[in-house]
Amino acid sequence: MSIAYDHSRDAPPAMAAAKDKLLLIDGRHVPSASGRTFKSLNPATEQIIAEIAEGDETDVDRAVAAARRAFEGPWRTMRAAERGHILLKWAELLKKHSDEIAALESLDAGKPIAAVLRQDFPAAVDTLTYYAGWADKISGEVVSTRDDALTYTVREPIGVVAAIVPWNFPLMIGMWKLAPALACGCTIVMKPAELTSLSALRIGELALEAGLPPGVLNIVPGPGRVVGEALVNHPDVDKVTFTGSPGVGRGIMKGAAGNFKRVSLELGGKSANVIFDDADLDAATKAAAAGIFFNAGQVCSAGSRVLVHDKVYDDVVERLTARARGLRIGDPGDRATVLGPVISEKQMKIILDYVAIGQQEGALLTTGGERVGDRGYFISPAVFAGVKHEMRISQEEIFGPVVSVIRFRDEAEALRIANGTAYSLAAGVWSRDIGRVQRFAKKARAGTVWINTYGYTDVRLPWGGERDSGLGREHGTAAIENFTEPKAVWMNLNV
Ligand code: NAD
Repeated sequence: MSIAYDHSRDAPPAMAAAKDKLLLIDGRHVPSASGRTFKSLNPATEQIIAEIAEGDETDVDRAVAAARRAFEGPWRTMRAAERGHILLKWAELLKKHSDEIAALESLDAGKPIAAVLRQDFPAAVDTLTYYAGWADKISGEVVSTRDDALTYTVREPIGVVAAIVPWNFPLMIGMWKLAPALACGCTIVMKPAELTSLSALRIGELALEAGLPPGVLNIVPGPGRVVGEALVNHPDVDKVTFTGSPGVGRGIMKGAAGNFKRVSLELGGKSANVIFDDADLDAATKAAAAGIFFNAGQVCSAGSRVLVHDKVYDDVVERLTARARGLRIGDPGDRATVLGPVISEKQMKIILDYVAIGQQEGALLTTGGERVGDRGYFISPAVFAGVKHEMRISQEEIFGPVVSVIRFRDEAEALRIANGTAYSLAAGVWSRDIGRVQRFAKKARAGTVWINTYGYTDVRLPWGGERDSGLGREHGTAAIENFTEPKAVWMNLNV
């Protein structure tokens, strides 16, 4: 089978916005200091869609200096309500350009346009609007200590923030970092993933149009080992907020130790979606399929392990297999497409290698797991049955459309398997027994638990995990705490 691709969608407006991309430093679009560029590919066609200026240490120095000036200058001292107004104006501009930005994201990341319009884009705008509302509501408190003193706290912006973003949700995860940091009065140097810099650069242009003062938001695309490490090691960066792989996250913690930067890390997952025999199997299997195949499985909280009670195991495997076969794979620009390509040739090879590993380990591939077509990085959604908890496909994050279906016999075994990886990001449980689902929610090692549903996120609720899934939480009030430091003030009332 080959994938039919409509090249007319490569034409403007998406391509017009994608061309000749420069760094954003101190409110101006500038070439990189080295003059080097790198290419961005469309993962659906393998064609080059943009040449992007490639930052290095010199550009990072310039961007951090600009961010420091903007922090000490206009942004921190501006009335908080005014900061909120600028962020709201930015949100309005994003909405005005929604079709263009969504098309750009779909083109650059190979994401089905329908999903970008339904999920990524609205979530990014919701995040920005939510934190715009926070800007003038960040406060301290008066705390009673002694009769002869007035003692209170204030929350102050942490300073210059380095935001390092992955390629799986470039726009949405980027905004999870930008919006709260800016609302708190911090300034930012953002490094998008080298595979997906375009939506970041476009929304950066719109931020300037909204009135963000020069230097408040700087964007330096380029390799993680160069731009990312330069930011992490920079003595004038106060905080790193990172989403990506656990390996890079470990290096960031070490690098940040130099000047004790604050660090928050959103890392990987191997989330369990647990289906008991009394569950609504229709709803559970539908959500289990969406939970692993959405965004071609390139989701940190993907339900990549489906744990199924012995009594309904064969039934669930059959239903999941049928659902996987029924998914429409194709051109991400086509609104009917559910499954687009994975992000890169490298990622495709990693996923196909895991399919081979699963077969060597003795799991049964009931469907999928093959490259589709010979152009673009499409993989048919794969279901593995007969997976044992110890197998690599059950323990390691694959980050692709591959699900491992694992059998359990009782609640204790389900919990042991669910908690039995290095990750603790999310978990799902399906049962009509309220005691059982509550026991599971209580004992699951996960930052989020979904009961009789799977995959929802909302910026009003904390998001993150522990162990190899990360450190700290994003979203809600947690993000306000991430980007501010509390200060205690003592005033002697007798002088
Ligand atoms: P990655 O760690 O390779 O890259 C993430 C970002 O870090 C990119 O911008 C990259 O250029 C940069 N980077 C790479 N090396 C660096 C270094 N040495 N120093 C500083 N920065 C560096 O991850 P990825 O492949 O882009 O994303 C996939 C991973 O992200 C998966 O493990 C996935 O689970 C995780 N993820 C987690 C969440 C979450 O919320 N927990 C969300 C999305 C993705």
